[in-house]
Amino acid sequence: MKVLVTGGAGFIGSAVIRRLLAQECAVVNVDCLTYAGNLATLANEAGNPRYAFEQADICDALAIRRILAEHQPNAIMHLAAESHVDRSIDGPAAFVETNIVGTYVLLEESRRHWEKLPSRQRDAFRFHHISTDEVYGSLGDEGLFTESTAYDPSSPYSASKAASDHLVRAWQRTYGLPALVTNCSNNYGPYQYPEKLIPLIILNGLEGKPLPVYGSGSNVRDWLYVEDHAAALITVLRHGAIGETYNIGGWNERQNIEVVRAICELLDELTPNSRHAPHARLITHVTDRPGHDHRYAIDASKIERELGWRPQETFETGLRKTVQWYLDHGEWIARVRADRYQGERLGLAAKAA
Ligand code: NAD
Repeated sequence: MKVLVTGGAGFIGSAVIRRLLAQECAVVNVDCLTYAGNLATLANEAGNPRYAFEQADICDALAIRRILAEHQPNAIMHLAAESHVDRSIDGPAAFVETNIVGTYVLLEESRRHWEKLPSRQRDAFRFHHISTDEVYGSLGDEGLFTESTAYDPSSPYSASKAASDHLVRAWQRTYGLPALVTNCSNNYGPYQYPEKLIPLIILNGLEGKPLPVYGSGSNVRDWLYVEDHAAALITVLRHGAIGETYNIGGWNERQNIEVVRAICELLDELTPNSRHAPHARLITHVTDRPGHDHRYAIDASKIERELGWRPQETFETGLRKTVQWYLDHGEWIARVRADRYQGERLGLAAKAA
């Protein structure tokens, strides 16, 4: 199988590529390398003869057309996106452009490509759109998101992802493009860009900087280790039914403040000589994010029941691996942070027009 992965130089896309290559697939990584994409993330894969990289913007129809014609993939896994909620508050335009227009361009070019395939290859072709549970909006203290929960996005990020999900389903229903959608909860693990909560807290903690917690820290997220997500995505690609949606989650609900405290305890344990210990004294409550959803929680029983996928990591085992990974990979951190992001606060809408 040859899989075209968009956004493969990012956090989840790179985990998917590593796993596809390990399963003997060929991979074409299409990524325009925004601030969030970095080829250092795939340094070990670059020399693999089954791996190809194309630097291209998914909004560029001609570039996508050429890449599809040249590489002739059997499947597309679409992960390229602007992915950070706080940035979507400060500058929503890039989110509309990449997440909505880019998905539209990719769908149209995929349809062109797919319609010309011989019938056996047409039947085998798949377009897998990777999305988020944030499209469902916010839960109260009870209940879980299922695949039939109505969309109710709160942020420019989640609204743009919701729009892209609708486009993918429309292309499946209207044109018959063999598409599937997955909606996943918050991911964490190696190679996550340092602006997201877990790597930000780890790195600030190591440097003795304040550990920012939005509001009271009582917001609840459902955490999934990135390797479990990558495994779920490949399971859906191989065995999922066309036109279906699968929710992916780890059954790991935690309040943000619990996550931050757990990281502090791991830092205390794994860096026993740190002069910043106990790290919990660095916790600083800051102004809440505008429109901050209270709680997300995924009902992942459909993918477990129908496709047999289950997460391998608990939050405790995955978090320990993650903290250790950041301790061991100072060089990668230095490269991705070099000129782009210094840990400053984003998402207060201060710059919004
Ligand atoms: P990321 O920000 O780490 O990576 C995104 C990648 O897309 C980067 O390599 C970037 O260079 C690339 N990209 C952005 N705009 C592009 C464009 N116009 N053309 C080509 N490439 C472009 O994101 P991530 O956390 O790996 O998320 C990947 C996907 O998974 C996204 O679609 C996101 O919505 C979804 N998702 C993420 C999470 C999470 O917790 N991170 C959870 C559920 C779903």
